[in-house]
Amino acid sequence: MSHCFLCIHGHFYQPPRTDPFTGRIPHEPTAVPYANWNERIHAECYAPNAKAGHFGRISFNLGGTLARWLDEYAHTTYERIVTDEQAHRNIWGAGNGLAQPVHHTILPLARRRDRICQVQWGIASFRHRFRHDPVGMWLPEMAVDYETLGILRDAGIHFTILSDEQVEGDLSAGAGPYRVRLPDGGEIGVFVRDRHLSNSLSFEMPSPDDVDDWAHAQLTWRCRDDHLLLIATDGETFGHHHRQGVATLARILASGDRHGYQITTLGAYWHQHPPTAEVEIIENTAWSCAHHLDRWVIGCECTPGDSRWKGALRRALDNLASDLDLVYQCEAQRLGFVPWPLRDDYITVMLGVMDGPALLAAHGLGRLTANESQRAMYLLEAQFYRQRMYTSCTFFFEDLDRLEPQYAIAHGIRALALTRYATGEDLSHRFRRDLAIAVSNRTGRSGADIFDALIDRGRVRV
Ligand SMILES: [Zn+2]
Repeated sequence: MSHCFLCIHGHFYQPPRTDPFTGRIPHEPTAVPYANWNERIHAECYAPNAKAGHFGRISFNLGGTLARWLDEYAHTTYERIVTDEQAHRNIWGAGNGLAQPVHHTILPLARRRDRICQVQWGIASFRHRFRHDPVGMWLPEMAVDYETLGILRDAGIHFTILSDEQVEGDLSAGAGPYRVRLPDGGEIGVFVRDRHLSNSLSFEMPSPDDVDDWAHAQLTWRCRDDHLLLIATDGETFGHHHRQGVATLARILASGDRHGYQITTLGAYWHQHPPTAEVEIIENTAWSCAHHLDRWVIGCECTPGDSRWKGALRRALDNLASDLDLVYQCEAQRLGFVPWPLRDDYITVMLGVMDGPALLAAHGLGRLTANESQRAMYLLEAQFYRQRMYTSCTFFFEDLDRLEPQYAIAHGIRALALTRYATGEDLSHRFRRDLAIAVSNRTGRSGADIFDALIDRGRVRV
């Protein structure tokens, strides 16, 4: 019997569900018998997988919004995930958790300094939760280009995951890892998932009793030469999308001896098998859209109906981001600090690692008056909400008048309000005017209507 390694990577992520104004998750009637979808998916997926010890045996990334929710509302599960990851690191010399850019932003579509910020915030969040540096990083929707890979490498990340349709070259070394040459002459590692094998589990999940037949049909012919096979999929596949998924995963993790594979994780495998072959990437591709990232820019056939609202909303957010950045940069110049490194470190305040005065002091700004410090902190918080506007789910679905785009607009309103607290400037006029061009197919409401309704509901001045 031939021998190979098998890694299952779960992408555990939930979009932000908390109302930006109340900080609470609204009641979600579709999640019955649970109060909201986080609770329901916790019961179906996160809790049973944690109880079964799967977070010590698979490779995974845990998105920031979900990690924060688990920490607060399902602490036993959260603790189990963290301790299993740390135990894995103690045994194998490498963790099995991957970091993730903190707001799940489509990085190739973001400005360079925002990509750096998302990566730095993701690494700091990972370090805060798992108490060690990440070796790998998950790219949101696997959206990739060379500049993004260079930023990961510069941040000390050694590898990421791509899907086989996103790379070019000889893939006879299975999932790799492969070396990708960067334009500046450097390199980074890439594990390549087997799309068809991943889909055979994600979309045609066998029952636990059928795992032997599944392994025989899907793994036996792929398994050879001590190579790695990589299944990468949504973590919610196991228990939420497929109720039998937790038991099936347990069976796959226990059946290696019968089918000639050995279970491993990306961290452990990377530690033992440096890249020996090389591939090139196909830029501006993602695992969930075959149209060069159009899904998150102007729309594409991945979502039904008229997608013109996506381009209009993105333009509104981009213009607002430029306005907010200009105010922040002017204030930085006036107060005498370098704007973007301070913002990159601001995540420590959001994580509760240090308070505002300590952060400012660490950047040589202990001399600021109380008033100046407060202004700087308001503008930094505005930058946090400005980053949040770009979470990938803002543009992922088919319509403007859904919670995800509404939340993006609400985050923009938060950023505007904080900027006004800091400087007295009202920047809302252009944002509202730009939003008027984005119109929902379903309800006919424009982005400006949503803006007005949010202002009315939140009773906030911008
Ligand atoms: Zn598409």
